[in-house]
Amino acid sequence: MNHPRAWVDIHLNRLNHNVQQINALISKKTKIMAVVKADAYGHGLEQIVLSLHKVGVTSYAVATLEEAIEVRGLLPTADILILGLTPIHNVYLLAHHRLIQTVFSESYVKSLAAAATSAGILIEIEIKVDTGMNRIGFAYDQINAIKIVFSYNSLRVNGIYSHLSVADSFKPEDVAFTQVQINRYELCLKELDGFSYGRTHLQNSAGIINQSHLQFDYVRPGIMLFGIPSGEVKKVDLKPVLELKASISMIKTVRAEEYIGYGRIVKFTKPKKIATVSIGYADGYPRSLSGKGVPVLVNGQYANLVGRVCMDQLMIDVTNIDGVSEEDQVILIGTSQTKRIMMSTIAEQTHTITNDLACQFSLRTVRLYT
Ligand code: PLP
Repeated sequence: MNHPRAWVDIHLNRLNHNVQQINALISKKTKIMAVVKADAYGHGLEQIVLSLHKVGVTSYAVATLEEAIEVRGLLPTADILILGLTPIHNVYLLAHHRLIQTVFSESYVKSLAAAATSAGILIEIEIKVDTGMNRIGFAYDQINAIKIVFSYNSLRVNGIYSHLSVADSFKPEDVAFTQVQINRYELCLKELDGFSYGRTHLQNSAGIINQSHLQFDYVRPGIMLFGIPSGEVKKVDLKPVLELKASISMIKTVRAEEYIGYGRIVKFTKPKKIATVSIGYADGYPRSLSGKGVPVLVNGQYANLVGRVCMDQLMIDVTNIDGVSEEDQVILIGTSQTKRIMMSTIAEQTHTITNDLACQFSLRTVRLYT
C-alpha cells in the first residue's frame, strides 16, 4: 500500500536499447525521425524526448501544433515535423517556433502560402504524397500539382514523404501492395528530379522491420521505439518500455453463492479469496477485458480477473496465490521473474493494436521513470 494507486514504470534504458536496434536495422546513411505524438504513445513526451535526444535523435514528428510547441520547448535545435493539419490561422506560430508543417492538398498549401505571405513570414513545409493509403496527401501521380508547391515564395520545401498502409502484414497481397507503394513513391521522386525536395522518408515501425533494405534519408518509428510493434513483423530484439502496475486495496474471502462486481456476471460456487486492485478503465485498463478471465501477475504468479472492470477498480481471484498480501503490487502488463503479460496479448483480446492501448495510459496514471 506504499506504492502509488496505479502507475506505469517507464524503462528509459529499454528505449535506448530500441533506438540501437533501429540503428542496427537501417542503412548507415538513414537517420531516425522519432514519432512522439499522443504524449509519446502514452509514455510521457518530456522524458521520452529528452532521453531520445541524449542518444543522438535530433529529428521528431508529432501530430499537432500543440505537441510540436511542447517539443520545441524541450529541444531548441531539433527539427520538428507536424504530420497532420495545422489550422491556417496558426501560421504565425509555425514560423515563431521554427516548425515544419506537412502540406497534403492543393487547397491547403494555397491557403498556407497566402497566410504566410500576408504575415510576411517563411514557413518550412514537407510534402505528403499519397501512394495508396488514401488518407491525406497529393496523389503520387499528380506531379503538376506537386510541382506547384515549389513555386510559393512564402514556403520552403524541406522534405517529401509518404506512409505505408499494410507494412505490418505478411499476406502476399499486402506484401505486394507495400511494394506498389514503394514503387509509386520512387516514381514520384523520379518525376521531381531537378526539384530540391529535401529529405525523403517512408517507413513506419513495421516498414522499418519488414522493409529494412530501403535507404531513404529518414525512417519514422513510433511504436517500435517503445518495444511493442503491432501487426505481423519479423523477429527483432526490442524491449517493452512500459509496465502497468497497481496496488491492492483489500483482500477478502467471498462466500459461496455470492456474485462479484457490476452486472453480477460471476457467481462463485465455492468460497474465493478476492483482491480488489486499484486500477480501472479510467486508468486505461480496457473495460472490454471484463469476463475474459485475463491474467495478471501477483507475487510472481498468475491470477485471473473476475467480474467487470470498474472505472477505478477491478477484482482478481487470488485463491491459489501463495503468500499473497495487501502489500503486493499487481502487474497488469509487464514481467515478474520468468512470467510476463504482454501488451500485444491484451491488445489482441480487446481487438485493438498496441499503439491504441499504450495511448490510453496517459490520463491519470502516475509514471515512474527508471
Ligand atoms: N508516420 C506517420 C505518418 C504516422 O501517422 C505514424 C503513426 O501513426 C508513424 C509514422 C509511426 O507509426 P508506427 O507507430 O507504426 O511506427
